[in-house]
Amino acid sequence: MSLSGTYDDQNIFAKIISGDAPAIKIFEDDVAVAFMDIFPQSPGHCLVVPKEPARNLLDLSDDMAAAAIQRVKALAKAVETALEPDGIVVTQFNGAPAGQTVFHIHFHVIPRWEGEPLGRHGGGQADMDELKAQADKIKAALA
Ligand code: 5GP
Repeated sequence: MSLSGTYDDQNIFAKIISGDAPAIKIFEDDVAVAFMDIFPQSPGHCLVVPKEPARNLLDLSDDMAAAAIQRVKALAKAVETALEPDGIVVTQFNGAPAGQTVFHIHFHVIPRWEGEPLGRHGGGQADMDELKAQADKIKAALA
């Protein structure tokens, strides 16, 4: 799939935004929704998904880009408080050759621990109870 292209409103993140697909949500407002990644690269891996129907950062409006990065920062701070990682990776992929697999703009917040290798991107599905417990901790830290 090319970098530019038509937005597919049936992508999985569009369905999560519309409520047609489930997600373990951390927060939601008029700008974005944040939820746990079900194929996490580390415990606590979560996503900020702006609601604007844009395929990637290049398509996102300036206003939403500015608002989204504020949510990314707030989520990263809550992850730090809740899970006490040694580091946090924030990533965002544009286009399949860059590693993008879901073609609705999103940011990854991935906690890292010293000596713990990063899991494979889009690897095994996590235990849902563990994801819920992590989401509850992060939510509490946001409050
Ligand atoms: P990308 O490769 O597009 O940057 O990242 C897409 C991310 O979405 C991956 O980390 C993948 O694990 C995650 N993902 C894919 N499908 C689903 C889903 O149905 N629910 C959730 N919560 N995450 C998903």
